[in-house]
Amino acid sequence: MRCIFCLRCVVSAFLQTPFEIILRALHTGPCSNISGTEWTKPSGFDTGLKVFNSLTKQKEPLILAREGVATWYSCGPTVYDHAHLGHACSYVRFDIVQRILSKLFGITVIHAMVITDIDDKIIKRSWEENICSTVIASMYEEEFKRDMLSLKVIPPAVYLRVTENVPQIVAFIDRIIKNGHAYTTQEGDVYFDIKSIGERYGKFGGAADSQPEPGSHKRDARDFALWKKSKAGEPYWESPWGRGRPGWHIECSTIASTVFGSQLDIHSGGIDLAFPHHENEIAQSEAYHQCAQWANYFLHSGHLHLKGSVEKMSKSLKNYITIKVKPGLLFKLFYGMTES
Ligand SMILES: [Zn+2]
Repeated sequence: MRCIFCLRCVVSAFLQTPFEIILRALHTGPCSNISGTEWTKPSGFDTGLKVFNSLTKQKEPLILAREGVATWYSCGPTVYDHAHLGHACSYVRFDIVQRILSKLFGITVIHAMVITDIDDKIIKRSWEENICSTVIASMYEEEFKRDMLSLKVIPPAVYLRVTENVPQIVAFIDRIIKNGHAYTTQEGDVYFDIKSIGERYGKFGGAADSQPEPGSHKRDARDFALWKKSKAGEPYWESPWGRGRPGWHIECSTIASTVFGSQLDIHSGGIDLAFPHHENEIAQSEAYHQCAQWANYFLHSGHLHLKGSVEKMSKSLKNYITIKVKPGLLFKLFYGMTES
């Protein structure tokens, strides 16, 4: 019988390999050059399993690009505050799915997770606390990792911080502009041009077409920032468009592509990330790779609700419980209070 920590052993061997070799081993060829908005069943290794794919809103056969290996990218935390049980629930659920794939079906899951360590909320928190944003981010990143360890969630093969990947992000944006899917403004911002991809925007529902707001330099109200000009007092990086910082969505497209190349088997995250975050990730990645199906499966975790409440657990509603509880209590909460 296989040890429950088989994946951990695989990951540890994986991490001892030079990063460039890992990248060469994982990169697939160009993603399938299909057209249209419909999901296309991938070709490759049929696991015999089915997963609920948010792209089709139904169970689909899980077919991987390589036999016995699943490439898996997940949106990690924005590290500006304590994580709560709503976040924990999502990570525990996907940990269970990954353990099932590896332990019961012998599939090696290679999981990369981004740590969002630069963001409006982090900057705001750093101003409120009068502490450098890098210190705030580092403090809550370490706390998040401790929380996950306390819940026995197997760590990803690799964590990648946004601030350590800015040159890659700049190059990624530059390619999207050259491919004709983004534009710059006189102010030094860069926006994704939604109209340039036509009907392909809206895989998770999407926003209705509308006119730009007065004073906005966006061509279409749905266009979203790839690069934001820095305001006074904000952290910034140099770019061909001036000093600024990455928009939120571009970090995931860049980092997932840096690790896994032009195609991804599985992408996961909370259901509240489906739109606009994952929708925009798809638009950017397919505009960069010039393909029509970048990630084959999107797995979304539902909200955690407190018993008797229709409201999800969230910081803004102030109804959250932090993860500083015994793991046993977490699993009691997990099984007793979820609706997904
Ligand atoms: Zn993401």
